[in-house]
Amino acid sequence: MTVKTGTNDVMSRAMMQSVTEVTQATALPPVRARAEIDLAALRANVRSLRERAPRAALMAVVKSDAYGHGALPCARAALQAGATWLGTATPQEALALRAAGITEADARVMCWLWTPGGPWREAIEAGLDMGISGLWSLREVSDAARALGRTAKIQLKADTGLGRNGCQPADWPGLVAAARAAEAEGTVKVTGLWSHFACADEPGHPSIDLQLTAFREMVAYAETRGLTPEVRHLANSPATLTLPHAHFDLVRTGIAMYGVSPSPELGTPAELGLRPVMKLSASVALVKQVPAGHGVSYGHHYVTEHDTTLALIPLGYADGVPRHASGRGPVLVGGRWRRACGRVAMDQFVVDLGGETVEPGAEAILFGSGEQGEPTAEDWARAADTIAYEIVTRIGQRVPRVHVDGDVDGGPDARDRASGDS
Ligand SMILES: *Cc1c(COP(=O)(O)O)cnc(C)c1O
Repeated sequence: MTVKTGTNDVMSRAMMQSVTEVTQATALPPVRARAEIDLAALRANVRSLRERAPRAALMAVVKSDAYGHGALPCARAALQAGATWLGTATPQEALALRAAGITEADARVMCWLWTPGGPWREAIEAGLDMGISGLWSLREVSDAARALGRTAKIQLKADTGLGRNGCQPADWPGLVAAARAAEAEGTVKVTGLWSHFACADEPGHPSIDLQLTAFREMVAYAETRGLTPEVRHLANSPATLTLPHAHFDLVRTGIAMYGVSPSPELGTPAELGLRPVMKLSASVALVKQVPAGHGVSYGHHYVTEHDTTLALIPLGYADGVPRHASGRGPVLVGGRWRRACGRVAMDQFVVDLGGETVEPGAEAILFGSGEQGEPTAEDWARAADTIAYEIVTRIGQRVPRVHVDGDVDGGPDARDRASGDS
Protein backbone atom coordinates (compact mmCIF):
# COMPACT_ATOMS: atom_id res chain seq x y z
CA MET A 1 0.00 0.00 0.00
CA THR A 2 1.37 3.42 -0.93
CA VAL A 3 0.56 6.97 0.01
CA LYS A 4 0.96 10.02 -2.18
CA THR A 5 1.28 13.43 -0.60
CA GLY A 6 2.27 16.95 -1.47
CA THR A 7 0.18 19.90 -2.57
CA ASN A 8 2.75 21.74 -4.64
CA ASP A 9 3.72 18.63 -6.55
CA VAL A 10 0.15 18.24 -7.66
CA MET A 11 0.14 21.68 -9.14
CA SER A 12 3.44 21.35 -10.97
CA ARG A 13 3.60 17.89 -12.50
CA ALA A 14 2.80 17.34 -16.12
CA MET A 15 -0.65 16.18 -17.00
CA MET A 16 -0.37 12.44 -17.30
CA GLN A 17 2.41 11.84 -14.82
CA SER A 18 1.93 10.55 -11.36
CA VAL A 19 0.55 13.62 -9.66
CA THR A 20 2.38 13.36 -6.34
CA GLU A 21 5.24 11.78 -4.46
CA VAL A 22 4.69 8.13 -3.67
CA THR A 23 5.86 6.84 -0.32
CA GLN A 24 5.24 3.59 1.50
CA ALA A 25 2.70 3.56 4.28
CA THR A 26 0.34 1.08 5.83
CA ALA A 27 -2.89 2.98 6.35
CA LEU A 28 -4.43 6.40 6.27
CA PRO A 29 -3.58 8.23 9.48
CA PRO A 30 -6.38 8.89 11.94
CA VAL A 31 -8.03 12.27 11.40
CA ARG A 32 -11.19 14.02 12.56
CA ALA A 33 -12.82 13.42 9.23
CA ARG A 34 -11.99 12.85 5.60
CA ALA A 35 -13.56 12.57 2.20
CA GLU A 36 -11.84 9.73 0.37
CA ILE A 37 -12.03 10.16 -3.40
CA ASP A 38 -11.61 6.98 -5.44
CA LEU A 39 -10.05 8.05 -8.74
CA ALA A 40 -10.19 4.51 -10.11
CA ALA A 41 -13.96 4.57 -9.64
CA LEU A 42 -14.13 7.93 -11.39
CA ARG A 43 -12.20 6.55 -14.37
CA ALA A 44 -14.46 3.50 -14.50
CA ASN A 45 -17.49 5.82 -14.54
CA VAL A 46 -16.03 7.88 -17.39
CA ARG A 47 -15.39 4.68 -19.39
CA SER A 48 -18.92 3.47 -18.67
CA LEU A 49 -20.41 6.81 -19.80
CA ARG A 50 -18.31 6.76 -22.97
CA GLU A 51 -19.69 3.31 -23.75
CA ARG A 52 -23.18 4.72 -23.42
CA ALA A 53 -22.38 7.60 -25.77
CA PRO A 54 -19.96 5.93 -28.21
CA ARG A 55 -20.33 8.47 -31.03
CA ALA A 56 -19.98 11.56 -28.85
CA ALA A 57 -16.95 13.13 -27.21
CA LEU A 58 -17.14 13.44 -23.43
CA MET A 59 -16.85 16.65 -21.44
CA ALA A 60 -16.01 16.05 -17.78
CA VAL A 61 -17.86 18.73 -15.84
CA VAL A 62 -15.62 19.69 -12.92
CA LYS A 63 -17.31 22.89 -11.75
CA SER A 64 -17.50 23.71 -8.06
CA ASP A 65 -14.30 21.78 -7.30
CA ALA A 66 -15.61 18.74 -9.19
CA TYR A 67 -18.84 18.68 -7.17
CA GLY A 68 -16.70 18.69 -4.03
CA HIS A 69 -14.36 15.90 -5.21
CA GLY A 70 -11.31 18.05 -6.08
CA ALA A 71 -11.21 19.65 -9.55
CA LEU A 72 -7.64 18.97 -10.57
CA PRO A 73 -7.20 15.28 -9.66
CA CYS A 74 -10.68 14.54 -11.02
CA ALA A 75 -9.99 16.42 -14.26
CA ARG A 76 -6.78 14.48 -14.74
CA ALA A 77 -8.39 11.13 -14.00
CA ALA A 78 -11.26 11.89 -16.40
CA LEU A 79 -8.80 12.77 -19.17
CA GLN A 80 -6.90 9.54 -18.53
CA ALA A 81 -10.17 7.66 -19.05
CA GLY A 82 -10.89 9.31 -22.37
CA ALA A 83 -12.64 12.61 -21.67
CA THR A 84 -11.39 15.21 -24.16
CA TRP A 85 -13.19 18.28 -22.81
CA LEU A 86 -13.44 19.80 -19.34
CA GLY A 87 -16.34 22.01 -18.34
CA THR A 88 -16.74 24.56 -15.56
CA ALA A 89 -19.30 27.18 -14.68
CA THR A 90 -17.07 30.18 -14.04
CA PRO A 91 -14.08 31.40 -16.04
CA GLN A 92 -12.05 31.47 -12.81
CA GLU A 93 -12.55 27.72 -12.41
CA ALA A 94 -11.49 27.12 -16.01
CA LEU A 95 -8.43 29.37 -15.72
CA ALA A 96 -7.37 27.52 -12.56
CA LEU A 97 -7.23 24.26 -14.54
CA ARG A 98 -4.96 25.87 -17.14
CA ALA A 99 -2.80 27.45 -14.40
CA ALA A 100 -2.39 24.00 -12.85
CA GLY A 101 -0.88 22.69 -16.06
CA ILE A 102 -3.76 21.37 -18.17
CA THR A 103 -2.68 22.68 -21.55
CA GLU A 104 -4.60 23.22 -24.77
CA ALA A 105 -3.01 20.02 -26.07
CA ASP A 106 -4.33 18.11 -23.04
CA ALA A 107 -7.95 19.26 -23.20
CA ARG A 108 -10.45 21.76 -24.48
CA VAL A 109 -11.77 23.68 -21.48
CA MET A 110 -15.17 25.35 -21.63
CA CYS A 111 -16.92 27.68 -19.17
CA TRP A 112 -20.34 29.27 -19.43
CA LEU A 113 -21.23 31.52 -16.50
CA TRP A 114 -20.08 34.99 -17.49
CA THR A 115 -20.81 38.38 -15.98
CA PRO A 116 -19.95 41.77 -17.41
CA GLY A 117 -16.22 42.51 -17.17
CA GLY A 118 -14.95 39.04 -18.04
CA PRO A 119 -12.10 38.04 -17.50
CA TRP A 120 -12.20 37.83 -21.32
CA ARG A 121 -8.54 38.59 -22.07
CA GLU A 122 -7.25 35.86 -19.76
CA ALA A 123 -9.80 33.41 -21.14
CA ILE A 124 -8.81 34.10 -24.75
CA GLU A 125 -5.11 33.76 -23.89
CA ALA A 126 -5.83 30.45 -22.13
CA GLY A 127 -7.63 29.16 -25.22
CA LEU A 128 -10.90 28.56 -23.39
CA ASP A 129 -14.17 27.88 -25.19
CA MET A 130 -16.67 30.41 -23.92
CA GLY A 131 -20.41 29.94 -23.67
CA ILE A 132 -22.16 33.03 -25.04
CA SER A 133 -25.85 33.59 -24.35
CA GLY A 134 -26.49 37.10 -25.58
CA LEU A 135 -25.33 40.24 -27.31
CA TRP A 136 -23.66 41.90 -24.32
CA SER A 137 -21.21 39.04 -23.86
CA LEU A 138 -20.59 38.66 -27.59
CA ARG A 139 -19.68 42.36 -27.71
CA GLU A 140 -17.34 42.13 -24.71
CA VAL A 141 -15.56 39.01 -25.96
CA SER A 142 -15.04 40.37 -29.47
CA ASP A 143 -13.76 43.69 -28.09
CA ALA A 144 -11.24 41.80 -25.95
CA ALA A 145 -10.18 39.65 -28.90
CA ARG A 146 -9.72 42.70 -31.13
CA ALA A 147 -7.53 44.36 -28.49
CA LEU A 148 -5.42 41.21 -28.23
CA GLY A 149 -5.27 40.54 -31.94
CA ARG A 150 -6.54 37.00 -31.38
CA THR A 151 -9.60 34.93 -32.20
CA ALA A 152 -11.84 33.88 -29.32
CA LYS A 153 -13.50 30.45 -29.36
CA ILE A 154 -17.16 30.95 -28.53
CA GLN A 155 -20.13 28.60 -28.28
CA LEU A 156 -23.59 30.08 -28.71
CA LYS A 157 -26.06 28.85 -26.13
CA ALA A 158 -29.71 28.47 -27.05
CA ASP A 159 -32.47 28.63 -24.44
CA THR A 160 -34.55 25.74 -25.76
CA GLY A 161 -36.83 25.74 -22.74
CA LEU A 162 -34.82 25.74 -19.50
CA GLY A 163 -35.49 29.46 -19.03
CA ARG A 164 -32.17 30.07 -17.33
CA ASN A 165 -29.04 31.08 -19.28
CA GLY A 166 -29.10 30.93 -23.11
CA CYS A 167 -30.61 32.92 -25.95
CA GLN A 168 -34.38 32.90 -26.52
CA PRO A 169 -35.53 31.67 -29.96
CA ALA A 170 -36.87 35.16 -30.76
CA ASP A 171 -33.41 36.68 -30.15
CA TRP A 172 -31.46 33.89 -31.88
CA PRO A 173 -31.38 35.41 -35.41
CA GLY A 174 -29.84 38.60 -33.97
CA LEU A 175 -27.21 36.70 -31.99
CA VAL A 176 -26.35 34.44 -34.94
CA ALA A 177 -26.00 37.46 -37.27
CA ALA A 178 -23.78 39.30 -34.80
CA ALA A 179 -21.60 36.21 -34.30
CA ARG A 180 -21.31 35.77 -38.06
CA ALA A 181 -20.22 39.40 -38.42
CA ALA A 182 -17.62 38.96 -35.65
CA GLU A 183 -16.33 35.85 -37.42
CA ALA A 184 -15.97 37.86 -40.63
CA GLU A 185 -13.94 40.40 -38.69
CA GLY A 186 -11.77 37.61 -37.24
CA THR A 187 -12.43 38.31 -33.55
CA VAL A 188 -14.39 35.11 -32.85
CA LYS A 189 -14.88 31.60 -34.17
CA VAL A 190 -18.13 29.84 -33.26
CA THR A 191 -16.85 26.42 -32.18
CA GLY A 192 -20.12 25.12 -30.79
CA LEU A 193 -23.89 25.42 -30.55
CA TRP A 194 -25.43 24.10 -27.38
CA SER A 195 -28.25 24.10 -24.86
CA HIS A 196 -29.23 22.54 -21.53
CA PHE A 197 -32.16 20.31 -20.47
CA ALA A 198 -34.66 21.26 -17.77
CA CYS A 199 -36.13 17.81 -17.00
CA ALA A 200 -33.84 15.11 -18.41
CA ASP A 201 -33.96 13.43 -14.98
CA GLU A 202 -37.72 12.86 -15.36
CA PRO A 203 -38.06 10.22 -18.11
CA GLY A 204 -40.98 10.96 -20.41
CA HIS A 205 -41.35 14.59 -19.35
CA PRO A 206 -42.99 16.44 -22.27
CA SER A 207 -40.37 19.23 -22.17
CA ILE A 208 -37.68 16.78 -23.33
CA ASP A 209 -38.99 16.36 -26.87
CA LEU A 210 -39.92 20.03 -27.09
CA GLN A 211 -36.36 21.02 -26.18
CA LEU A 212 -34.89 18.54 -28.67
CA THR A 213 -37.05 19.95 -31.45
CA ALA A 214 -36.19 23.54 -30.54
CA PHE A 215 -32.49 22.65 -30.42
CA ARG A 216 -32.52 21.01 -33.86
CA GLU A 217 -34.31 24.03 -35.31
CA MET A 218 -31.96 26.57 -33.72
CA VAL A 219 -28.88 24.59 -34.84
CA ALA A 220 -30.27 24.30 -38.39
CA TYR A 221 -30.98 28.01 -38.50
CA ALA A 222 -27.44 28.93 -37.36
CA GLU A 223 -25.88 26.54 -39.86
CA THR A 224 -27.93 27.86 -42.80
CA ARG A 225 -26.68 31.33 -41.84
CA GLY A 226 -23.09 30.18 -42.26
CA LEU A 227 -21.95 29.07 -38.80
CA THR A 228 -19.82 25.90 -38.88
CA PRO A 229 -19.61 24.61 -35.28
CA GLU A 230 -17.29 21.72 -34.40
CA VAL A 231 -19.69 20.48 -31.74
CA ARG A 232 -23.42 20.53 -31.03
CA HIS A 233 -24.34 19.46 -27.50
CA LEU A 234 -27.29 19.23 -25.15
CA ALA A 235 -26.91 16.18 -22.87
CA ASN A 236 -26.12 16.32 -19.14
CA SER A 237 -25.74 13.11 -17.07
CA PRO A 238 -29.39 12.03 -17.07
CA ALA A 239 -29.66 12.62 -20.84
CA THR A 240 -26.40 10.75 -21.42
CA LEU A 241 -27.82 7.80 -19.48
CA THR A 242 -31.35 7.76 -20.90
CA LEU A 243 -31.59 9.72 -24.19
CA PRO A 244 -29.17 8.39 -26.83
CA HIS A 245 -30.84 10.55 -29.51
CA ALA A 246 -29.80 13.65 -27.50
CA HIS A 247 -26.07 12.90 -27.48
CA PHE A 248 -25.17 14.85 -30.66
CA ASP A 249 -21.36 15.45 -30.85
CA LEU A 250 -20.55 15.86 -27.16
CA VAL A 251 -22.05 14.88 -23.80
CA ARG A 252 -21.45 16.99 -20.69
CA THR A 253 -21.39 14.68 -17.70
CA GLY A 254 -21.05 15.82 -14.12
CA ILE A 255 -22.87 13.93 -11.41
CA ALA A 256 -22.75 10.48 -13.05
CA MET A 257 -18.97 10.70 -13.30
CA TYR A 258 -18.87 10.96 -9.52
CA GLY A 259 -20.89 7.77 -9.25
CA VAL A 260 -24.02 9.50 -7.97
CA SER A 261 -27.43 8.87 -9.50
CA PRO A 262 -28.98 11.98 -11.10
CA SER A 263 -32.32 11.04 -9.55
CA PRO A 264 -33.87 8.12 -7.66
CA GLU A 265 -36.26 7.68 -10.61
CA LEU A 266 -33.37 6.70 -12.89
CA GLY A 267 -32.08 4.03 -10.51
CA THR A 268 -29.27 3.48 -8.05
CA PRO A 269 -25.65 4.07 -9.08
CA ALA A 270 -25.17 0.30 -9.37
CA GLU A 271 -28.23 -0.02 -11.62
CA LEU A 272 -26.76 2.72 -13.80
CA GLY A 273 -23.36 1.02 -13.99
CA LEU A 274 -21.69 3.64 -11.79
CA ARG A 275 -19.37 3.41 -8.78
CA PRO A 276 -19.66 6.06 -6.04
CA VAL A 277 -16.42 8.05 -5.87
CA MET A 278 -16.67 9.83 -2.49
CA LYS A 279 -16.63 8.22 0.95
CA LEU A 280 -17.23 10.61 3.87
CA SER A 281 -16.14 9.34 7.26
CA ALA A 282 -15.17 10.63 10.70
CA SER A 283 -13.51 9.37 13.86
CA VAL A 284 -15.90 9.00 16.78
CA ALA A 285 -14.80 11.78 19.15
CA LEU A 286 -16.44 10.64 22.42
CA VAL A 287 -18.60 7.80 23.72
CA LYS A 288 -20.47 8.10 27.00
CA GLN A 289 -23.28 6.66 29.09
CA VAL A 290 -26.22 8.91 29.79
CA PRO A 291 -29.35 8.30 31.85
CA ALA A 292 -32.92 8.06 30.55
CA GLY A 293 -34.60 11.40 29.97
CA HIS A 294 -31.42 13.18 28.87
CA GLY A 295 -31.80 15.88 26.21
CA VAL A 296 -29.41 15.76 23.27
CA SER A 297 -28.04 18.75 21.32
CA TYR A 298 -29.48 22.24 20.82
CA GLY A 299 -33.18 22.58 21.50
CA HIS A 300 -33.42 19.14 23.12
CA HIS A 301 -35.33 17.79 20.13
CA TYR A 302 -34.16 14.32 21.14
CA VAL A 303 -34.54 12.96 24.65
CA THR A 304 -33.21 9.50 25.57
CA GLU A 305 -35.91 6.97 26.40
CA HIS A 306 -33.65 4.63 28.39
CA ASP A 307 -30.17 4.62 29.88
CA THR A 308 -28.06 4.58 26.74
CA THR A 309 -24.72 5.34 25.07
CA LEU A 310 -24.18 8.36 22.90
CA ALA A 311 -21.40 8.74 20.33
CA LEU A 312 -20.20 12.14 19.18
CA ILE A 313 -19.56 12.50 15.43
CA PRO A 314 -17.23 15.46 14.76
CA LEU A 315 -18.87 16.75 11.57
CA GLY A 316 -21.55 19.42 11.29
CA TYR A 317 -23.24 21.80 8.93
CA ALA A 318 -19.99 23.76 8.46
CA ASP A 319 -18.69 20.55 6.90
CA GLY A 320 -21.76 20.18 4.70
CA VAL A 321 -23.78 17.81 6.88
CA PRO A 322 -27.26 19.23 6.31
CA ARG A 323 -28.93 20.64 9.43
CA HIS A 324 -32.19 19.75 7.72
CA ALA A 325 -31.27 16.07 8.25
CA SER A 326 -31.38 16.54 12.04
CA GLY A 327 -33.06 13.49 13.56
CA ARG A 328 -32.76 11.55 10.29
CA GLY A 329 -29.28 11.51 8.73
CA PRO A 330 -27.87 7.95 8.69
CA VAL A 331 -24.37 6.92 9.82
CA LEU A 332 -22.71 3.50 9.98
CA VAL A 333 -21.12 3.18 13.43
CA GLY A 334 -20.18 -0.08 15.13
CA GLY A 335 -21.65 -2.17 12.32
CA ARG A 336 -25.11 -0.63 12.32
CA TRP A 337 -26.94 2.33 10.85
CA ARG A 338 -27.64 5.00 13.46
CA ARG A 339 -29.51 8.25 12.99
CA ALA A 340 -28.36 11.77 13.85
CA CYS A 341 -30.32 12.31 17.05
CA GLY A 342 -31.28 15.88 17.82
CA ARG A 343 -29.93 18.84 15.92
CA VAL A 344 -26.93 18.72 13.61
CA ALA A 345 -24.74 21.55 14.93
CA MET A 346 -22.04 23.52 13.16
CA ASP A 347 -19.22 21.10 13.96
CA GLN A 348 -20.77 17.97 15.42
CA PHE A 349 -23.79 15.78 15.90
CA VAL A 350 -24.69 12.84 18.13
CA VAL A 351 -25.90 9.30 17.49
CA ASP A 352 -27.59 7.02 20.03
CA LEU A 353 -25.85 3.64 20.16
CA GLY A 354 -28.74 2.17 22.18
CA GLY A 355 -26.51 0.80 24.93
CA GLU A 356 -23.86 -0.61 22.57
CA THR A 357 -20.43 0.92 22.61
CA VAL A 358 -17.49 1.69 20.32
CA GLU A 359 -14.04 3.02 21.08
CA PRO A 360 -13.22 6.69 20.56
CA GLY A 361 -11.61 6.83 17.12
CA ALA A 362 -13.95 4.18 15.69
CA GLU A 363 -14.88 4.86 12.10
CA ALA A 364 -18.25 6.52 11.46
CA ILE A 365 -19.18 6.37 7.77
CA LEU A 366 -21.75 8.95 6.71
CA PHE A 367 -21.82 7.81 3.12
CA GLY A 368 -19.85 5.81 0.60
CA SER A 369 -20.36 3.14 -2.02
CA GLY A 370 -22.68 1.13 0.22
CA GLU A 371 -20.49 -1.95 -0.24
CA GLN A 372 -19.61 -2.08 3.47
CA GLY A 373 -23.25 -1.59 4.40
CA GLU A 374 -22.85 2.15 4.80
CA PRO A 375 -25.42 4.74 3.68
CA THR A 376 -24.99 6.46 0.31
CA ALA A 377 -25.15 10.10 -0.73
CA GLU A 378 -28.63 9.28 -2.06
CA ASP A 379 -29.68 8.20 1.48
CA TRP A 380 -28.53 11.57 2.86
CA ALA A 381 -30.38 13.37 0.06
CA ARG A 382 -33.58 11.62 1.11
CA ALA A 383 -32.96 12.45 4.79
CA ALA A 384 -32.41 16.12 3.95
CA ASP A 385 -35.18 16.50 1.32
CA THR A 386 -32.69 17.39 -1.36
CA ILE A 387 -30.76 15.90 -4.26
CA ALA A 388 -27.54 13.94 -3.96
CA TYR A 389 -25.77 16.59 -6.08
CA GLU A 390 -26.11 18.97 -3.13
CA ILE A 391 -24.88 16.44 -0.57
CA VAL A 392 -21.50 15.82 -2.23
CA THR A 393 -20.99 19.35 -3.56
CA ARG A 394 -21.47 21.05 -0.20
CA ILE A 395 -18.91 19.04 1.76
CA GLY A 396 -16.91 21.85 3.33
CA GLN A 397 -13.33 22.95 2.84
CA ARG A 398 -12.52 21.88 6.41
CA VAL A 399 -12.83 18.23 5.38
CA PRO A 400 -9.59 17.06 3.74
CA ARG A 401 -9.98 15.28 0.42
CA VAL A 402 -7.81 12.18 0.19
CA HIS A 403 -7.41 10.95 -3.35
CA VAL A 404 -7.14 7.18 -3.51
CA ASP A 405 -6.19 5.40 -6.70
CA GLY A 406 -6.81 1.68 -6.68
CA ASP A 407 -5.64 1.19 -10.30
CA VAL A 408 -2.09 2.44 -9.96
CA ASP A 409 0.48 -0.39 -9.59
CA GLY A 410 -2.01 -2.81 -11.05
CA GLY A 411 -3.40 -5.26 -8.54
CA PRO A 412 -6.41 -4.77 -6.31
CA ASP A 413 -4.16 -4.56 -3.26
CA ALA A 414 -2.06 -1.79 -4.70
CA ARG A 415 -3.92 1.23 -3.39
CA ASP A 416 -2.26 4.54 -4.16
CA ARG A 417 -3.36 7.43 -2.08
CA ALA A 418 -2.94 11.10 -2.92
CA SER A 419 -3.81 13.54 -0.21
CA GLY A 420 -3.96 17.21 0.46
CA ASP A 421 -4.40 18.32 -3.11
CA SER A 422 -7.68 20.14 -2.93
C1 LIG B 1 -23.62 21.29 -14.32
C2 LIG B 1 -23.87 21.24 -15.78
C3 LIG B 1 -23.77 20.03 -16.48
C4 LIG B 1 -23.59 18.69 -15.80
O1 LIG B 1 -24.83 18.27 -15.28
P1 LIG B 1 -24.96 16.83 -14.58
O2 LIG B 1 -26.42 16.64 -14.41
O3 LIG B 1 -24.23 16.92 -13.29
O4 LIG B 1 -24.34 15.86 -15.51
C5 LIG B 1 -23.90 20.07 -17.85
N1 LIG B 1 -24.11 21.23 -18.50
C6 LIG B 1 -24.23 22.41 -17.85
C7 LIG B 1 -24.49 23.64 -18.62
C8 LIG B 1 -24.13 22.46 -16.48
O5 LIG B 1 -24.24 23.63 -15.84
